[in-house]
Amino acid sequence: MRNFEYIDAATTDRAVRLLGRQRDRVRLIAGGTDLLDELKEGLLAPERLINLKANTRLRYVRYSAAEGLRLGALATLTQAETDGNVRLHYPLLVAALRTIASPQIRNVATVGGNLCQRPRCWYYRSQPLHCARKGGPFCYAIAGENTYHAILGGHQCFIVHPSDLAPALIALDAKITYLGTKERKTIPLEEFFIGPDKDITRENILEQNEVVEEVHVPPPAPGLRGVYLKVRDRQSWDFATASVAAALEMEGDLCRRARIVLGAVAPKPWPVPAADQVLSGARVTPALAQQAAEAALRGARPMSQNAYKVPLARNLVRRAILEAAGQAA
Ligand SMILES: Cc1cc2nc3c(=O)[nH]c(=O)nc-3n(C[C@H](O)[C@H](O)[C@H](O)COP(=O)(O)OP(=O)(O)OC[C@H]3O[C@@H](n4cnc5c(N)ncnc54)[C@H](O)[C@@H]3O)c2cc1C
Repeated sequence: MRNFEYIDAATTDRAVRLLGRQRDRVRLIAGGTDLLDELKEGLLAPERLINLKANTRLRYVRYSAAEGLRLGALATLTQAETDGNVRLHYPLLVAALRTIASPQIRNVATVGGNLCQRPRCWYYRSQPLHCARKGGPFCYAIAGENTYHAILGGHQCFIVHPSDLAPALIALDAKITYLGTKERKTIPLEEFFIGPDKDITRENILEQNEVVEEVHVPPPAPGLRGVYLKVRDRQSWDFATASVAAALEMEGDLCRRARIVLGAVAPKPWPVPAADQVLSGARVTPALAQQAAEAALRGARPMSQNAYKVPLARNLVRRAILEAAGQAA
């Protein structure tokens, strides 16, 4: 491992200044549960690490009925998961948080780090392989072992986005705030993530010198019911094979509005407006849930070894809708 400088940044402004413009020469570290793996695996060799944890002002979880929920980028996943207001008003979020890694990892992993973590594709994580995500000529998964890879949205790179927090937050209409040298920007979280069609080497729009500060979730709409379902090979310490976040605004069995977001099936969290349209303004029945689930997976293009993900994700969507509507068998 190459020697590097380690600098505390007690404010976001300082972190932005220290980052500079040259990509990957300087990197941010928060909880370090992903970044340290990247260093140890030889995927990164930065000259300087900027420690964001020194910025204790971004370590908050705040809720008010008028404003909703504000999660500072340095809040740990445990802080969010155990907060009384999050538990009361955002059960969808808590359900997603509880599936992440292990309690030990959640004690140090941060909200910002979870959203900005790098992919777990075994070709990307293998140091000698110069895959497309690392700027190389091609995606090894196309002709290789692609059991856990993308069935949607892959364009010459078939990673899946690893975050469980992201689909849950997007289903709840969250926004993200980040700071760069020129300005502070707030955008819908959905627009933060990008696919390989936009840039094959990164998963979000952040430039080298931009830092995530906060995630804001609006107050829950009346009748909001949220469900997060995740399938994984092992029941702990494991990333999703497929997941779904379903947020339904219900009045009796009438769904006023729905947001369905898939996880672990595409290079970015995958909202499915086609399913939302089937549900919104309709009475939820098992047949309608099936119709929405079919719509959600209609564009899926499985690879040689991951066709199982299509019925898996489809069934998860159907189950999540029925659970959110209080009609689970
Ligand atoms: C065994 C294991 C199992 C796991 N299982 C799951 C799982 O099931 N579901 C899941 O969602 N995750 C899982 N993870 C991933 C884990 O949740 C992430 O590693 C963690 O959330 C990252 O947070 P961190 O604070 O440690 O980030 P770090 O490791 O410090 O940083 C991660 C990345 O984000 C960047 N970054 C951090 N903070 C900011 C910021 N404020 N602004 C801009 N960039 C930033 C860093 O530069 C780095 O590139 C697992 C990890 C392990 C090791």
